[in-house]
Amino acid sequence: MDEARGTGPADARLTALGRRIAACRLCVQAPLRGPEDRLPHEPRPVAVLSSQARILIAGQAPGIRVHDSGQPFNDPSGDRLRTWLSVDRDTFYDPDRFAIVPMGFCFPGYDRHGGDLPPRRECAPLWRSEVMAAMPQISLVLAIGHHAQRWHIGADCPDSMTETVRRFRQYLDRNSGPSVIPLPHPSWRNSGWLNRNPWFADEVLPELRQRVALLMV
Ligand code: SF4
Repeated sequence: MDEARGTGPADARLTALGRRIAACRLCVQAPLRGPEDRLPHEPRPVAVLSSQARILIAGQAPGIRVHDSGQPFNDPSGDRLRTWLSVDRDTFYDPDRFAIVPMGFCFPGYDRHGGDLPPRRECAPLWRSEVMAAMPQISLVLAIGHHAQRWHIGADCPDSMTETVRRFRQYLDRNSGPSVIPLPHPSWRNSGWLNRNPWFADEVLPELRQRVALLMV
């Protein structure tokens, strides 16, 4: 966990919150589904909290490369996400520009097919509302994958991730809370989805880039 880099009261609150998250061992000590479902490695929460950024990247959970490096989106998925956003690495990792808060802070391990497990279900109920309350300046949430979309869109979120992304205009400029742009995971495993849904590149990405650019000036 990176510490908030400012010196104001909001930064002090975020630093204290970040330290509590960094010390969290819930998924080892008291997993929701019982001892058999214990996280199979030491927790290493990965997130970037910020008192300045107006854009929040709400991902799923770190993969093994991010678990090893401690740097979110430090992998080919991150390269594709930066292309979608039209930002370089320095801009992406500037905590005054982007906060990065996945739905599960720790790498959840692998399923029986060797794929990454979904975000730990313990994490969002324990931390997410407090994290969002500590970053009231966020005005745009990039909700990557269905777990993040369900949490940030709420009752209006369709069951289908494709349908949620297709309806992206509905979640912009809402009466309460930040705008949300739902995105598929930028993993190369989703290349087939991107090929089958060309409207994503034609309609969603231009709106995404325009909104991101406006919030970075
Ligand atoms: S995934 Fe979340 S709840 Fe589980 S140990 Fe990591 S920080 Fe704690």
